[in-house]
Parts: sequence; C-alpha cells; structure tokens
Amino acid sequence: SLTLRNIVKKYGQRQVIHGLDLDIADGEFVVLVGPSGCGKSTLLRMISGLEEITGGEVMVNGQVANKMQPRQRNIAMVFQDFALYPHMSVRKNMAFALRMAGISRAERDAAVERAAEMLGLTEELERYPSELSGGQKQRVAMGRALVRNPEAFLFDEPLSNLDAKLRAQMRAEIKALHRRLETTMIYVTHDQMEAMTMGERIVLMRAGVIEQVGTPLELYDRPQNVFVAGFIGAPG
Ligand code: ATP
Ligand code: MG
Repeated sequence: SLTLRNIVKKYGQRQVIHGLDLDIADGEFVVLVGPSGCGKSTLLRMISGLEEITGGEVMVNGQVANKMQPRQRNIAMVFQDFALYPHMSVRKNMAFALRMAGISRAERDAAVERAAEMLGLTEELERYPSELSGGQKQRVAMGRALVRNPEAFLFDEPLSNLDAKLRAQMRAEIKALHRRLETTMIYVTHDQMEAMTMGERIVLMRAGVIEQVGTPLELYDRPQNVFVAGFIGAPG
C-alpha cells in the first residue's frame, strides 16, 4: 500500500503541495489528474523517492519511507519522453537496472524475455531505440519498469507524445498489464477524458491540493465544487 500523510512540498520559498493525504491500496489503479502545474509530477517524484518531501510522511506498505532511497522503495516511474538509452539495444535498456543491482546474466535474460513477451517486444530485443516506433519505445520504457518487479508503477503522462490512435491502444495495453500483474498503478494525466475512461478511482488535484477523490461516476454525478464540475465537464 501507499499512504501519503499531510504531504507538504516547497521549492525554495514557494509551496507547491499543501498538506495532502491519500491512501492507495495494493493492486489499485488510480488516475491522478489536474491542470498543468498543479503538482502531479512533484507528487509522483516524492512517492518514488526522486524528490525530497518538505513535510509529512510517505509510507510504503505501512513503513515510513521518507528516508528510503528510490532503489529501496522499488517504485518504478514511466515518463512521457521514455528516457531510453540511445546507445543500448532494447535488451540492454530493459536489463540495465538489473545489471546495476548485480543480478546475473541468466536471470536478467529471463526477466527481460518474460517482460518482452508480455509487451510484444520479443522481435525487437536486439534493436536500438532509434529503430523503434513511438509505441514500441513506450513499451520498452514500461519493460524497463516491469523487469524490476516493482511495488508500484507510476506513469507520468506516458502517452502525451503519441498520436491519438496509438494513445488509445496504449491505454488499453496499460490496463491489460494492470489486470495481468495486479500491481498498484498511479497514472498521471492532465486529460480529463483519459482520466474518466481509465480510472477506477480518480484523484483530482488543483494547485497543490486534492479537490475530490472518487470513481468517474461519482465525480460526474456529485462534483464537490465548481472546479470539479468545470473540469469534468470540460471538452477533452
Ligand atoms: P504538468 O501537467 O504541466 O506536467 P504538474 O502537475 O506535473 O504539471 P509539477 O511539475 O509537479 O506540475 O509542478 C508543480 C509546481 O511546482 C509548478 O508550479 C512548478 O512550476 C513547480 N516546480 C516543479 N518542479 C520544480 C523545481 N524543480 N523547482 C522549482 N519549482 C518547481
Ligand atoms: Mg507533470
């Protein structure tokens, strides 16, 4: 489980997260949505350990994780720019974290091949990122996360560089992966349509606070305030 207790974040003097609480159960698929600059990426980075928190507690499986290194937390992030290593093959990109962790060649190969099979990348393993389509790059980025067998996957607007058709396909693939793995996933988007179609539970943020948490239907039927109503009702 992931628990956020009264999380505060300041960059210098500027406070961008204002005492935020959230509980995410094991295996949940949560969509975090809100306008640009509301603090979604900052929140993900604090959960994964890439960004220090200014106040409050991040708990992973009931343990305070504030001081834990990203590697100890084992929470995988998938970014929109894929952040692949251009000079490494798909296989090496996917095996990199395992190699750093001292996992044997045989175990690395097994983990990479299992992930490649799940993601439809078996034929691409010896190719380089520049030789892949946008969707394939995104799958490699997911594969790099998958081989680590993480506690949770955090997706930060992973599809915004893809065209509309591919986005729809990748949305379905991510949901299918979730059903198969049953691992906790937090999916960030600023697209309300994407949030409403993907989320089992939606967390709607604005300017460093959570405005409402609920199922798509709850947000649609019972928006708690004008901001929620306006956001949900806005054309995608
Ligand atoms: P977007 O949808 O555009 O990605 P976001 O919701 O992910 O936006 P964040 O990137 O978390 O927003 O930024 C939240 C606020 O913190 C913004 O006002 C941003 O300018 C500020 N911010 C983010 N990173 C830093 C940083 N490294 N230093 C200073 N301010 C930052
Ligand atoms: Mg962001």
